[in-house]
Amino acid sequence: MDHRLAQLRALMAEQTITALLVGSATNRRYLSGFTGSYGWLLLTADAAIIFTDSRYTIQAAHEAPNFTFCEVNYAERPLPKLLKAMAEELGLQTIACEAAHLTLAEHQQLEKALGSAISLDPKQNLVESLREVKDETELTTLRRAITLTDAALAAVLERITPQTTEREAAWMLEVAMRLGGAEAISFPIIVAAGPNSALPHAQPGDTPLGEGQPIVIDMGARVDGYHADLTRTIALGTPDARFWEIYDIVLAAQRNAIAGLRPGLATHEADALARDVITAAGYGDQFGHGLGHGVGLNIHEAPGLRRAAANAPAVHLRPGMVTSIEPGIYIEGWGGIRIEDLALITADGAEVLSQAPKLR
Ligand code: ZN
Ligand code: ZN
Repeated sequence: MDHRLAQLRALMAEQTITALLVGSATNRRYLSGFTGSYGWLLLTADAAIIFTDSRYTIQAAHEAPNFTFCEVNYAERPLPKLLKAMAEELGLQTIACEAAHLTLAEHQQLEKALGSAISLDPKQNLVESLREVKDETELTTLRRAITLTDAALAAVLERITPQTTEREAAWMLEVAMRLGGAEAISFPIIVAAGPNSALPHAQPGDTPLGEGQPIVIDMGARVDGYHADLTRTIALGTPDARFWEIYDIVLAAQRNAIAGLRPGLATHEADALARDVITAAGYGDQFGHGLGHGVGLNIHEAPGLRRAAANAPAVHLRPGMVTSIEPGIYIEGWGGIRIEDLALITADGAEVLSQAPKLR
């Protein structure tokens, strides 16, 4: 954790931020190691303080030994009061806060307690920008989550039949991942058969998997807080010619993206590597979402590989980023095909981490 704090402090110095209040649970875990459900961090160049309540006294000391523990108690020692006392002790006049992770009510309470002598300065993407690039510990954990996900899919594919329903298949995948060592599933598993697969985020229902139609399976195991994410499209029995036509376009788009990903590439250029293939094949309007997203302590995090938004500064790929590559084509009334792998941006390209077999 120490190198992460050092990186954050360098970033704070660059932006002349003397103190940062971290409200995001994910950012708190990333910086301190503390995994409890409630807590705040206050960081300065010298101080690292963790505010949490008595449920976590023992846990916080164990998980975040380098932080000074400060116990919040809702009656006499609420966070705004403690923060004010701490700010005065440290001589702070301004505290940066995480605009994306503080509710308006929390902000108002803090402002009221801090008074006119200490101001809050909303910032965005400070810790998130560090989290974009994974360190070795994170990569090891992500690889474990990915391997476990691949193995669970392989085991379940041997057992499903055309009579298995979407919901049953989703449960079989969840059980396989949990028994394989996952602490949780990364997100509600998608198993979508036939026309249901035209919905990129379909919910599994009572529809049997059937024969000859696309079945989209999107799943992931969570290990030590890190999320895997994998999509395969399969068919039981003999799929029709349209299945193979669409499958081959999506696969070609994915391969083109994998071959072209490299440090320095802008995220919208990465998206175009796949989108151009799908558009040239005539299905550009059937690929509504972006090519991919970063994964880590959140299932969806920066960088987002998608078309550029107006006026948004370009984001460029860097070694150590881990992103999904998940082109798809969705045709209402027929179904959809999506293929998703996770890849690590390396010094000169991309290493595909997912190993689950594809149909071609
Ligand atoms: Zn997915
Ligand atoms: Zn994904």
